[in-house]
Amino acid sequence: MTDYDWLDGIDEATIRRERAKARELRKTRWWQQKTASGTCYYCARVVAHRDLTMDHLVPLARGGRSTKENLVPCCKDCNNKKKSLLPIEWEHYLEGLL
Ligand SMILES: [Zn+2]
Repeated sequence: MTDYDWLDGIDEATIRRERAKARELRKTRWWQQKTASGTCYYCARVVAHRDLTMDHLVPLARGGRSTKENLVPCCKDCNNKKKSLLPIEWEHYLEGLL
């Protein structure tokens, strides 16, 4: 049993729909305000506005949804780390930032 066994339960259509929803939210004033300061949600560094990406706190593949509560601005460094690390390793990385 690994962390990934249950990924099979999330269907592609749901993920596509949630990605589209995230793209729409990106155009809103709400997102503009959230990213206005240029601060990364995870490491709290201030980066250029164009270097901020939209990140799902709980990834879509793990059952997260594109809701305002689940979307945060994230710098490219953190984004790359999150992609390359296992969920448990990512948690350890975050603990190191605190
Ligand atoms: Zn960051």
